[in-house]
Amino acid sequence: MPPLSDLPTLDKQHLWHPFTPMRQWCAPDHTPLMLVQGRGCTLRDQFGREYLDGNASIWTNIHGHAHPAINAAIVAQLGRVAHTSFLGFTHEPAIRLAKELVELLPGSKITRAFFTDNGSTAIESAVRMALQYWKQNGRPQRDTLIAFDRAYHGDTLGAASLGGIPLFKGSGNDFGYRVITVPSLDSLTADDRSRIAAVVIEPLIQGAAGMRLWPQGMLKNLDAWCSAQDVFLILDEVMTGFGRTGKMFACQHEDVVPDFLCLAKGLTGGYLPLAVTLTTERVFDGFLGEPHEGRTFFYGHSYAGSQLGCAAALASLQIFRDEHLLEQLPAKIARMGELMADLPGYRQCGMIAAITLDSPDPGLGAKVCLAARSHGLLTRPIANTIVLMPPLCITLEEIDRMVAALRAALVEVRPPACQTS
Ligand code: PMP
Repeated sequence: MPPLSDLPTLDKQHLWHPFTPMRQWCAPDHTPLMLVQGRGCTLRDQFGREYLDGNASIWTNIHGHAHPAINAAIVAQLGRVAHTSFLGFTHEPAIRLAKELVELLPGSKITRAFFTDNGSTAIESAVRMALQYWKQNGRPQRDTLIAFDRAYHGDTLGAASLGGIPLFKGSGNDFGYRVITVPSLDSLTADDRSRIAAVVIEPLIQGAAGMRLWPQGMLKNLDAWCSAQDVFLILDEVMTGFGRTGKMFACQHEDVVPDFLCLAKGLTGGYLPLAVTLTTERVFDGFLGEPHEGRTFFYGHSYAGSQLGCAAALASLQIFRDEHLLEQLPAKIARMGELMADLPGYRQCGMIAAITLDSPDPGLGAKVCLAARSHGLLTRPIANTIVLMPPLCITLEEIDRMVAALRAALVEVRPPACQTS
């Protein structure tokens, strides 16, 4: 076994990282940061240095790392069985989790849970369900999906075909459906409108676009528009779900219940790959029939509804209740706002805060994030936008430290005397 100290070199020899320019990564003067331990909001690297997890490990972590209750739930499940197929069989954690998830939107039309294993496939499931629903339920001309400029819904080809950010868009799709990406619904023609299967949106805030806030009321209006046209509304709450915006789901800020609610990242508290597409009895019924009629939803993945993932998710939901997490968020949200409001381009949506540096240097955000490391903060820029999206369990004292580290990094990279704005 190679010693720990050799591993970063072996990484450069054998690994290929997502969203990473690999020439720069493999350069001799770059030492990959290897994270070896996590406790609460703190991560430790190979040298024993500690950092606050300022982007909740790519927007996933909710209750902190190594939470005893989630760890215990995973260990207990491991003692029973780690993985069994969800194709043709079922299991206790998934059944319990499906019930708890639909009960998070009590009395609503959401009744069904379809499990996958990442955010992109949660979106693809919704898209495929919407298209297949209309095809086999009397409206086969509805072959069009409406998505929004600057949207991001994942990286698999189907999810990427909905994207409105050229860098992440991939090469489109060849699966017999159309995607129209629009700034607003006003630009649709009557023909477009007659062909819409579903409208897809990240509610309240577009994440990968650089944390762009939608105007208040936009979601409510969109929901009313979709209802009036009888087209499906697909909400991508992969980032915003599970308390991130201050309520359990972003759609609850505007009293909207979609036809499809796609959840992933925070579903397991950020511990394991699990995702879910929640939908309605109407959609579900549209797939019923005799096997030979071909109405079945033929889609799924080997690790769909992972037993370990479902056990972690159940533990995570229990912690929401036990620790009264949602009730604690207003004070934390307010603190982040107070401490950051004067920073450039500042905006906030619940526990998501972002600033944007006004600079001709497109690498400035990366420089600030690198500098922040030496002040004990890890986060990742989106171009010159710097995001603070900590685990929801962060304490007020940790928020103070997190923002102080960001401010110190900003001063270091661009001393006040050099600032243009
Ligand atoms: N939708 C949104 C809004 C996201 O932010 C992401 C991931 N950043 C995805 C979908 C895709 O999720 P995953 O990376 O788990 O496929």
